[in-house]
Amino acid sequence: MNNYISCPICHNDKYRPIFKKSITKKYNVSIVQCEHCEFVLSKSAALGQEVKQDFVFENYWRSKKIGNHIDKRFIRHFTRRARSHLKLISGFYPKGFTGRALDIGCGAGLFLDEIRKQGWSVHGIEPDKECYDYAINTLKLDVDRCLFADYQTEEKVDLLYFSHVFDDINNIDLVCRKIKSLLSSEGRVFIEVPNLISYGGFENINDEDLIVNKYYFTTSTLRNLLEENGFTFEYFKSKEPIYLNTVGQVVLSPFKVYKKMKSSKKKSLIRVIAS
Ligand SMILES: [Zn+2]
Repeated sequence: MNNYISCPICHNDKYRPIFKKSITKKYNVSIVQCEHCEFVLSKSAALGQEVKQDFVFENYWRSKKIGNHIDKRFIRHFTRRARSHLKLISGFYPKGFTGRALDIGCGAGLFLDEIRKQGWSVHGIEPDKECYDYAINTLKLDVDRCLFADYQTEEKVDLLYFSHVFDDINNIDLVCRKIKSLLSSEGRVFIEVPNLISYGGFENINDEDLIVNKYYFTTSTLRNLLEENGFTFEYFKSKEPIYLNTVGQVVLSPFKVYKKMKSSKKKSLIRVIAS
């Protein structure tokens, strides 16, 4: 008998198992889907279990096949991503606005470095040691080595930034509430996550991502979760082809439609700016 918690989106508590994989002896990945709203999440998240997070403190980056340490290629990739995000985000603030930005899982700090150049005051949190060391020693950033759940501050922020992190954090409903409580009256949250559908099957997801991912979003489940938590969308876009939107409600098998887009090599992402 599984004691599932109620679904963070629709509050039902019936889930069906959809994927299982053992990764070494240490990690048994099990993924379930809400029978009612089709939200896909790790079984441990559906059980409300606190998963030990030692993996993100020590092993996550290092276990990646590509980009597993901070070299020129890493910096080029993350700087490019940071600039493209910043260009988009800037359009949602008054011209010349500078505020306080908080980057959750800031990695080596390349986004914070970019937005700091525009006059923002910046702060980050990052569990990984190599990334944290680079951010504080090389970029001279103000970063705490911790998890979002353990981060405490009295200060409100004007931008909360989650780039490929929002799907990795336990207790997504608490995360949503914490975001709300941290945002200033002008504050906005930026979220970018992979679109579940773009993976084309759980067997295509890297082991290290299977270990850290707690939630697997489609456009409809991300939209529903944020709406359920009282967010107002300023921007909501997925790079997926249009025909996927039309079948967004029928992702019973999340990859049913994948074959149609297999020709497109582009990783499909979902980007949101909300307040
Ligand atoms: Zn649900």
